[in-house]
Amino acid sequence: MLVSVIYHEDFGSKGHSVLKARIKPSFEALANSGLLEGDDVQVFEPEPAPLKLVEKAHTPEHMESMRSESYNRMYYDVALLSAGSVLKAAEMVAKGEAENAFAYTGTAGHHASPGSCWGFCYFNDVAIAIMRLREMGLERFLIVDVDPHFGDGTRNFFGDDPNVYHINFNHQQSSNFDGIKNNYDVGIGFDAKDDTFLSELESAMEMAKNFDFQICFVIFGHDSHADDYGGFELTTVAYPKMARIIKDAAGGKGIVFVLSGGSVPEVASKAIPEVISVLAGR
Ligand SMILES: [Zn+2]
Repeated sequence: MLVSVIYHEDFGSKGHSVLKARIKPSFEALANSGLLEGDDVQVFEPEPAPLKLVEKAHTPEHMESMRSESYNRMYYDVALLSAGSVLKAAEMVAKGEAENAFAYTGTAGHHASPGSCWGFCYFNDVAIAIMRLREMGLERFLIVDVDPHFGDGTRNFFGDDPNVYHINFNHQQSSNFDGIKNNYDVGIGFDAKDDTFLSELESAMEMAKNFDFQICFVIFGHDSHADDYGGFELTTVAYPKMARIIKDAAGGKGIVFVLSGGSVPEVASKAIPEVISVLAGR
């Protein structure tokens, strides 16, 4: 079972100032874990996402703002490379070249809408990847956004699309499921702990099993950790358990993990190798 890890050193040197410090230490922890010594976990380098595809996802106004506004322009190249990382991960899984994948990024994507962006996000990497997979003939996707912040950009892309089932963890006090449009907002409040998070994930994945998806994207924000900035109170023990729940529910269908929020190197250095280890069936 090949897990492809998509990584570029620019994510650590040129990524968003809040997100980048975790990149290099976590990749070194992955190398030191021994996981890369077999054939079942391999590292690949991404190319920037093709402009033609990015321009299909985002409005001309947003593209112009990315090129001209100084606070966007400084991350333009690394945002294209981040989208390219998710694209390569998704393509490898869709083509059967890898069974599962983990895409490192230097900027995040789930707060990027067709015409705007905020929150360390510039281009919606998962939306761009889904557009490419649809060009390849795939149609139905499950998105599991476990980043504690509501993925408003992704919802703006796919909220009305019943062929994209969007599980979206957030800080609300209650959950809401729209079974027509397949949007499931999982509100577990601020300060949510491992047991709440994992049991809500388990029931959401149980429901999603009835949706006949072809590929599962996991928007993996470890800003959900108690030591990180996202407002949940998870511990590192939760992340491999999370990956196991998703993998069991996916039943052998391809899973693409997409690195999202999170800043603390120690959290990333523990969580990322352990998640990849679960994806590899270790
Ligand atoms: Zn977040």
